[in-house]
This record gives sequence, C-alpha cells and structure tokens, in this order.
Amino acid sequence: KVQEKLPPRAFQKKDGTEGWIARVRVADESGSGFVVFWGDRMNDYNDLVAGEVYQFDVLAVKKNTFGNSTRIEFHANKDTSISKSGKKIEIKVQKLKIGEITETQSPISFEGRIKAIDEERQITLKDGTQTKNIKILIADETGDIVMIIWREAVEEVKKFKAGDPVKVENVTAVMNKFSSALEVRTAKDTRISKPAKSTVPAIEPVAPEKAFQRSSRLMVAGPLQRLSLDHVENNMAGEVIAQVISVSRYINNYMACPKCKKKVVLQDGVYTCVNDGKQPKASPRLIAKFTVDDGTGKINVSMIGDSVVKFFGITEQEKMKLAEKDDEGHRAEKDAILARVNDKILLKHFLFRGKVKLNEYQNEYEIVADSAAEVDLNKETAMIIHGIESSP
Ligand SMILES: [Zn+2]
Repeated sequence: KVQEKLPPRAFQKKDGTEGWIARVRVADESGSGFVVFWGDRMNDYNDLVAGEVYQFDVLAVKKNTFGNSTRIEFHANKDTSISKSGKKIEIKVQKLKIGEITETQSPISFEGRIKAIDEERQITLKDGTQTKNIKILIADETGDIVMIIWREAVEEVKKFKAGDPVKVENVTAVMNKFSSALEVRTAKDTRISKPAKSTVPAIEPVAPEKAFQRSSRLMVAGPLQRLSLDHVENNMAGEVIAQVISVSRYINNYMACPKCKKKVVLQDGVYTCVNDGKQPKASPRLIAKFTVDDGTGKINVSMIGDSVVKFFGITEQEKMKLAEKDDEGHRAEKDAILARVNDKILLKHFLFRGKVKLNEYQNEYEIVADSAAEVDLNKETAMIIHGIESSP
C-alpha cells in the first residue's frame, strides 16, 4: 500500500546533467519501507496514488547504509513491473514506547512528555516559497526522540511548554542522516494533542541548546584524527592514507572570481562576483572525483581548484582543456590528459586531508579533500608498528 509519495528531488548526475529521484513509502501488515524511482522509472512514480494497493514485481533490494539505519529500500529498475492490486491491506497504527521505535514501523503513535522545544525556524524552499518548522524533544521512561513539525502544526506546538504531556498519532520514524539518530516526522494525518491524564512520569526539561544538535560544529583542534574508511561519519574532519583505485572521467568546473574564488555569474558579457563586483577575467576551477581504498573500505573523494591541479600534476593549459565542454571535439583530448593523470596517481598511496560529507543523492559518504600528499608506505608502516609497540 502506498502510504506517502515524497516529493521528487533533482540531483546532478556524474556527467553534469540533471536527473530526478523520488521515494514512495509503502507498507503491508508486516512493516514499511521505501520504493525508489529514478530515470525512466519516474513515470511509474507519477502514476502511483497514495492509499492504493499495488503489486510490485522485480525490485532490487538495497539496505540503506548510512548511520545505523535499518531501513530497507527497494529500487525500481528496467525489469520492474507495477500493477494495481485488488488486495485489501489494513495498516494498523502501532502504539509504541519511545524506546521501541524503529525505522521499519510506520505509521506509529506514542505518548510522552516534552523535554525541550527548539526555536521556530523560517525555511525558504527551492521554489522560493517560505515555510517554517520547529523541533521538539519528547521523552518517556524508555528513551527520547526528536520530532520535526512543519507548517500550520507549528502554531499548535507553541501552545505546549517543556514538561507537558503530549500524545502523537500517525507519524513516521526516519534516521537523520546527519546525526545518525532516529527522528519522528509528521504526515498529513498526524495529530498532536495534550492528554488530560498521562501515565508518563514527570521529567526534567533540558535547555534547547543542549537538546538539539546545532548544524555548525566546531572543527577538532590540534593534529587531525586518522580516519578508517569503515568508520566514517558525517562532518568528521581528518586524514586517511588510501590508494587511488579509480578516477572519474567527468570533471566538472565553475568560473571563479580571481580574488575570492567564489563562483561568478556572467551578466551582459561581464563576470560579476557577489563579494568583489565586476571582474575583467575569471578562471575555471575544476571539481574532480576519484575513489580511494584504505584496506578497510572505499570512498569517493572530491577535490576542488588548485588542489586538483597539484594532485593531478597538470599544467595550466591542461586545466583549461579539462574545463572545456564535454563534446566530441574535446573528449579525446580530455581522455588523453586523464590517461596521463591515471599513470601518475592510480594505485598509489596518498595521505588525504579533508572532511567527510554525506552525498544526499547517492546516499553515500564522500570525502571533500583539501590536499593529497604521496606517502612512502614502507616508512608509514614502520611508524604504525612503532605506534603499536610503544602503546601501553
Ligand atoms: Zn570575489
């Protein structure tokens, strides 16, 4: 049964063109999951109607790998067929204790007490429309969970104060990709009310700044932590020694202000920077992607600007060539340059420094690297062994 069609999102494909991806929340009596559509399959997404029951045949099953998500996703592919089903599916709203909530149970209802209420936030959507949301932290004797409330329901929530009992009906639980914690989100038929009597014991409210993670995190001071690619988390800053196992053929670029390196816009034949105004000249900055492996796992790395030129060991002229449009005339020249780059860096070990970021569209972590330095692996191994021997 299709419970909810999440709005499609645009994403940039490897070749720089725009693609669409959309998710549909489906459920049967045993639980819920998501069907993911993209490319040609977007037509199937458009045809689905929320509340109707369908027979889905041949979907690829993918476990969502970010955070400690337990969510299973079904990906529609060229072999998938979807037909309307006469089957009746009654989905019961599960009443749970907060500590029992998982991502695979939807919809759910629970009762608790409000531990903290965050500040209301004004949000500008991609299409320019304004909306608002607010976060609250709800607890019972088994645990606590953040709930995000959107639009009109925000006004309802502002009638509550920390410590108040609250009853929440018809919500879904999802893993927050950034905090790796479960979160509750409202749907169309969600109800939030204040029960006259509550069996949930009184709780101690906490200050909002303690209860909710702020998006801007402080960088770790001092020497960078060494990352292990099987244990990366969003926003982790650090360094990793890894071997380059592939380099993407598709190098993106943008025209940058010579002073501040920000993206400039072309207006009436003149480049304009938001910081520095009109610029007589602008130069392309390359965005390169490659994959590295440290023995524990692999990850995509993206690198921008001068770091790419240095890492690839290319000339200014070669950089300009790589920034040309990807048509037939340039592809061969670009491939020749990249063949030389591959000879230089492929299967070699480098020390990469940067920050782990979640690539939302591919549901994968990547490292945005500031630098890459070739390492002598023998020397490095000696240092690691020494480190082990000298630790207590
Ligand atoms: Zn500028």
